[in-house]
Amino acid sequence: MPGEADVVVIGAGQAGLSAAYHLRRRGFVPAGGAPTGERTYVVLDAEEGPGGAWRHRWRSLRMSTVNGIHDLPGIEQPDVEPEAASADVLPAYFGDYERELGLAVARPVRVRRVERADDGDLLVRWEGGDRSGTVAARAIVNATGTWSKPFWPAYPGQETFRGRQLHTADYVRAEDFAGRRVAVVGGGISAVQLLEEVSHVAQTFWFTRREPVWRDSFDSQDGADAVAMVADRVSRGLPPQSIVSVTGLIRTPSLRTAEARGVLDRRPMFTRIEPDGVVTPDGALVPVDVILWNTGFRAALDHLRPLHLRGSGGGIRMDGTQVEGEPRVHLIGYGPSASTVGANRAGRDAVNRIVRYLDSLSWGPA
Ligand code: FAD
Repeated sequence: MPGEADVVVIGAGQAGLSAAYHLRRRGFVPAGGAPTGERTYVVLDAEEGPGGAWRHRWRSLRMSTVNGIHDLPGIEQPDVEPEAASADVLPAYFGDYERELGLAVARPVRVRRVERADDGDLLVRWEGGDRSGTVAARAIVNATGTWSKPFWPAYPGQETFRGRQLHTADYVRAEDFAGRRVAVVGGGISAVQLLEEVSHVAQTFWFTRREPVWRDSFDSQDGADAVAMVADRVSRGLPPQSIVSVTGLIRTPSLRTAEARGVLDRRPMFTRIEPDGVVTPDGALVPVDVILWNTGFRAALDHLRPLHLRGSGGGIRMDGTQVEGEPRVHLIGYGPSASTVGANRAGRDAVNRIVRYLDSLSWGPA
């Protein structure tokens, strides 16, 4: 691993690969052995292989049931069967992409901390297998997604529950719950998809904090409005909201069928957990064997804590992809760019701004 690079990209999901693609287009070369004078980059990724979080999505999330995956920049996705598992198709596509473009992703390499050095560099401290080290960078593009940071809300009595509790991130297949009584918690897309799936083999009970907002369709203007609302939040230093909390849920054909079967009969969120079930606001105990928490994810940014980026609003104040006032740090796949199309654009935007920043360093007063 080289000891320095102009740009370190942390994470090689869609966002990190988009940044790497645009760095290559702007003439950057992989650090370590680059001819003098060339601008350099490294990409560090914690996974064992390509694919980002798609490596871990549940098997039944098929290419026909994802919402629509944008191609990585420059190379189209291969034609695949709609029933193929996204956890197979997308890692294979990402792997081919990395190889074809020679992106030189280092794995498995987890960044533990990023610190400011006295000389103006950022020190990226990494660990991987039995190795560890530091890369000194002029700028970083953070593209670490959310999958490694599942959010579990706290409810009284949670630790007394005798059944199984799991999060979306732990879900593998519906058959694991055959014949059980399952509380499905959450009002997002993952919640309703897993509710529908589990309801075929188990008795389900759906709990959400708010009455879900259903819509029959969703066009590009709705998408643009949702992204603009999340962008507005992060520009004011507030934590990003999930896009679904802004857009509402789409009635897909399978959800219409689930609705007709009575599966989408939503209950207000339970107030406490007992060893054998959950207690509803009217005090009734609903016996359940499993609680499936589809309560979302948070941005995986713990390694940036030494930079003290969070402000009093609880979030990081953003200026596009750049952390406001910190031209060396870009966050992509974050907030308004937490989608495949958003990640593509954010990778491009971050690289454009970093190039301008590096130019300003080399052309500034001596
Ligand atoms: P990821 O794919 O999570 O990649 C982040 C990478 O960073 C990972 O490889 C991870 O190992 C690595 N990493 C994390 N921490 C570190 C660290 N400290 N050091 C080094 N590496 C690290 N979007 C759509 O547009 N269409 C969809 O249909 C769609 N479906 C989705 C379904 C689910 C269940 C979920 C959760 C999300 C979905 N999204 C969808 C969102 C979309 O997957 C992401 O926003 C998009 O792929 C961008 O991902 P990313 O690159 O930011 O993150």
